[in-house]
Amino acid sequence: MKALCWHGKNDVRVDTVVDPRIQHPRDAIIKVTTTAICGSDLHLMDGFMPTMKSGDVLGHEFMGEVVEVGSGVMNLKVGDRVVVPFTISCGECFFCQKGLFSCCDTSNPNWEIAAKAMGQSPAGMFGYSHMLGGFAGGQAEYVRVPFADVGPLKVPSGLKDEQVLFLSDIYPTGYMAAENCGIEQGDTVAVWGCGPVGQFAIKSAWMLGAGRVIAIDRVPERLRMAEASGKAETLNFDNVDVHDRLLRMTKGRGPDRCIDAVGTEAHSTGSLDAVVDTVKVAAHLGTDRPHVLRQAIMACRKGGTVSIPGVYVGLLDKIPFGAAMNKGLTMKMGQTHVHRYLKPLLEKVETGEIDPSFVITHRLKLSEAAQGYKMFREKKDECIKVVMTP
Ligand code: NAD
Ligand code: ZN
Repeated sequence: MKALCWHGKNDVRVDTVVDPRIQHPRDAIIKVTTTAICGSDLHLMDGFMPTMKSGDVLGHEFMGEVVEVGSGVMNLKVGDRVVVPFTISCGECFFCQKGLFSCCDTSNPNWEIAAKAMGQSPAGMFGYSHMLGGFAGGQAEYVRVPFADVGPLKVPSGLKDEQVLFLSDIYPTGYMAAENCGIEQGDTVAVWGCGPVGQFAIKSAWMLGAGRVIAIDRVPERLRMAEASGKAETLNFDNVDVHDRLLRMTKGRGPDRCIDAVGTEAHSTGSLDAVVDTVKVAAHLGTDRPHVLRQAIMACRKGGTVSIPGVYVGLLDKIPFGAAMNKGLTMKMGQTHVHRYLKPLLEKVETGEIDPSFVITHRLKLSEAAQGYKMFREKKDECIKVVMTP
């Protein structure tokens, strides 16, 4: 089959690879109908994630049709149309039972590597390096889905792929980011990053009772989307002192809730290579550019919340933890517990409360994936979200 493979920093190619097969009774094989490129994939493109190997199949946002099921999968049958969460979860362990699906204790076969790096292992993930299980991703014609009796959600035939695909990641991710804020009615929520995750965080902040949303980015069309579709007030961080403006907009108090929907950019380090690169990228961007998380902690009002859906890899330096402590902030973060949100967020699509396809700007064939990555990486051609069909 054809699949998009990682071959090193800034080097992804569509290759012919071996078809996936059932390896365990709880597996299913999905024929992918639509898949997307995520900001998290860019961290792999940038070489921030150690434990990638040349030839690894990328992609963790995908949906499709069930073409084969293992003997232990009773809830799915061949022909079912499903969307698949990007985190792989057993549904049975201590963490899954608590609804902490992205912390699943049993789905990462390479848990020892992860535990060495992080103290304990998070769940396995599709297409996200060997540390997180080495699972082939869904930017491919077919994909093996482990624990298929737990993850995949059957979707109603009346809804198009583009309306349900993002249940796999960015829609729940934006929603959990806002939920993690503990928004109280009328709160001011500031969202750093108007990429796809930021866009869903903005919409979710309104759903959860925000009285005002302020969105921060530098890319004009992303700011425009945050304004038009997200009804947010916006700040371009190239043109204004974000900290100063946020305080002025909130009577000097700072936003009640702050969301970092940016994550690893030039400032975190996952490997020696990345350290070197970090220096280069930082020089390119200008070293005076404040780190998002630092800015969020400093701007957040006393007793407020900083929620971090943005992905960080490895170490992160010079975070004003003293400010966070002394201001009594709450900080919440994590890979999204996607399984938790599938049904309630699907319901919002069915009732028309949200149509997640609003974020799509580009539709490509899988064969054009490398071009899609480049465009999304460089934010060219007004690219906000790329979906692809194998
Ligand atoms: P993206 O790269 O498209 O968006 C990031 C945006 O941040 C860009 O528009 C960029 O211009 C903006 N930005 C960069 N520096 C900034 C600054 N200093 N201030 C304000 N904005 C700034 O990516 P995305 O798909 O929207 O994903 C965003 C983050 O969420 C990534 O780190 C991704 O890995 C992460 N993510 C996390 C989860 C999770 O489970 N927690 C799931 C999906 C994605
Ligand atoms: Zn993603």
